[in-house]
Amino acid sequence: MEEMKITPRILNGIAIAEEIKAEVAVDVQALVAQGITPGLAVILVGEVPASQIYVRSKIKTCGELGIFSEMLTPSESITTTEMLALVDKLNARDDIDGILIQLPLPRHVNTKRLLEAVSPNKDVDGFHPVNAGRLQSGQPGLAPCTPAGIMEILRRSDLPVAGQNAVVVGRSDIVGKPAAMMLLNASATVTVCHSKTEDLPKFTLAADILVAAMGRPGFVTAEMVKPGATLIDVGINRITDPAEVEEFFPNDPERAATFAKRGSVVVGDIHPAAFAKAGAYTPVPGGVGALTIAMLMRNTVTAAKLRRGIAGEVFQEKR
Ligand code: NDP
Repeated sequence: MEEMKITPRILNGIAIAEEIKAEVAVDVQALVAQGITPGLAVILVGEVPASQIYVRSKIKTCGELGIFSEMLTPSESITTTEMLALVDKLNARDDIDGILIQLPLPRHVNTKRLLEAVSPNKDVDGFHPVNAGRLQSGQPGLAPCTPAGIMEILRRSDLPVAGQNAVVVGRSDIVGKPAAMMLLNASATVTVCHSKTEDLPKFTLAADILVAAMGRPGFVTAEMVKPGATLIDVGINRITDPAEVEEFFPNDPERAATFAKRGSVVVGDIHPAAFAKAGAYTPVPGGVGALTIAMLMRNTVTAAKLRRGIAGEVFQEKR
């Protein structure tokens, strides 16, 4: 008998982000009606073109949702001490609910010290150790945007998490570790893999939910994936070698056109050929990456509420 072919479901991050932004806008209106306008301050140091694009996009989204925003643009030569003073001022301001320090910072600036100087209650990136602790102990707080976006994709797509084998490849503080913690809080059975993991396919093949957050273009191949699995591809890798583009995207006129125009295309950490085996998957681009700004907006509103003792978001409740 011929094997039945199931068409994998594409998890549309852009549509989910729009849904979340619409909800945030409603929340903002309700707060404004109580005389509270949520406010976000973004610190952008120097002139890194990619960072400028990200920041512009964050500021623009604030405007669309009715969130007050302020951009601070100190020069490349700013010292750690001067940056700390800037953060202190923002910590003390009542009209600022969220403080975001756009990374990377110049090498002479102590990034870790700065991230820890942001008040945990205004830490909308969710990078402060206090928020990492709150996430671990299931207390209300601010969670990192990218893994929070992954959970929203799963939840809003009605994909089961409780009792599922979830494998996270990557253990960074901003993606892998918090993603693993959120999946655990949602009652998945979680395995975390990393560069020292021996026999990675042994683990990935057992994954009902596979989160790839490694920063290695197309590393997870079709042979490493369990048929019918949910594949969450966090990787954003720019490839510029025509042979590589052809290898990842054969017979793909759309990608070929993008490559001809820009000289690069983006590929995730999961090989595109693996998606055919999935039950559901997030595309790159248009998957997880699309959620990050929406979750930042959500966090800014959550921060505005939590700081004033208004019931806010609670980290992914057990299901
Ligand atoms: P990091 O470089 O901080 O972490 C990468 C992780 O992958 C590490 O834990 C590393 O292991 C692991 N790893 C690397 N190579 C292998 C391997 N061969 N086998 C198994 N594990 C491996 O990256 P980030 O977490 O910051 O980002 C990961 C990816 O996600 C990147 O492509 C990034 O661009 C993307 N990203 C996307 C975002 C979005 O969608 N908005 C936001 C943030 C990131 P070890 O710890 O042992 O070194």
